[in-house]
Amino acid sequence: MHVLVLGGTSESARLAAMLARWGVRATLSLAGRTLHPAPSPLPRRIGGFGGAEGLAGWMRREGVTALVDATHPFAARMPFSAARAADLTGTPLLALVRPPWRAGEGDDWTEVPGHSEAVEALGPVPRRVFLTVGRLELEAYASGPPHRYLVRTIDPPVEPRPLPDAEWVAARGPFRLEDERGFLGRVDVLVTKNSGGSATEAKLEAARLLGRAVVMVRRPPRPPVPAVETPEEALSWIRALS
Ligand code: NAP
Repeated sequence: MHVLVLGGTSESARLAAMLARWGVRATLSLAGRTLHPAPSPLPRRIGGFGGAEGLAGWMRREGVTALVDATHPFAARMPFSAARAADLTGTPLLALVRPPWRAGEGDDWTEVPGHSEAVEALGPVPRRVFLTVGRLELEAYASGPPHRYLVRTIDPPVEPRPLPDAEWVAARGPFRLEDERGFLGRVDVLVTKNSGGSATEAKLEAARLLGRAVVMVRRPPRPPVPAVETPEEALSWIRALS
C-alpha cells in the first residue's frame, strides 16, 4: 500500500502523524506556499505535479494505492486534479475537509462568493476593517475604497505590499478569544474566508460578543467525491482499504 496525502492543512498534518505511527507507506505532498512548513513525520514532496495528468503520472510511478485530498477548503484547483487523477489511475480517493463555520444567534454575517464581492459589501464609506483572508488574496482590497485595514497573515507580506497603508500583523493560530477581542475592538468589521476549524474561530466569537459585522467569503466548489471531516475518519477509510 502507498497512501498519497495532498496536504497544506492542520488535518493533513494530523493524518500524516497517524500514518507515521501506524507505519504504512505514505507520502505527504505540499504545494510549497508556506515559507517554513512544520517538520513532517512522513516522507514529503513539495511543489505542483503539473495538473491532473502530472499527478496521475506521479501516482503510477510511485505505486500509489490510496489518495487523500486533505487540501484547504479554499484550494480551488487541486481537488479537481485529484478527482481526475483518481479516475485516470483507478485509485480510491477520499476528501478530508473540515466543516464550514455557520452563523448562529447574535451573528451579523454577510456571506459573499468572492473577494471582489467582499469589497463591495464593505461599501464606499471608509471603515476600519480586520482582514484575515491570507496574504495572497489582497489585490481586490487594494483596488477598492480606502478602508483602514488591519491585516493578519501567517507569513509576512510579499513586497511591494498590496495595501501599503495597512497595519500588518504576522501570526499563526490558534488564537485566543481575549486577543481576538483586542483586534475586533479596534475595527468596525471583520472580513474572513469560511475556512472552518477551531484554531481561527475565536475571531468570530469575538465579533459576536462585540456586535461587529462579519463579511464571510464562501468556499469555492469542490468535485463530488466521498468526503470525511476528521483525520480519524480518514484513517479508518485507509485501514479498510489495506
Ligand atoms: P489550488 O488552487 O488548489 O492549487 C494550485 C496548484 O498548486 C495546483 O494546481 C497544484 O499544482 C499545486 N498544489 C496545490 N496543493 C498541492 C499539494 N498539496 N501538493 C502539491 N501541489 C499542490 O490551491 P491554493 O489555493 O493555491 O493552495 C495551495 C496549497 O496551500 C494547498 O495545498 C492548500 O492545501 C494550502 N492552503 C491553501 C489555503 C487557501 O486559502 N487557498 C490556505 C491554507 C493552506 P499542479 O497543478 O502543478 O499540480
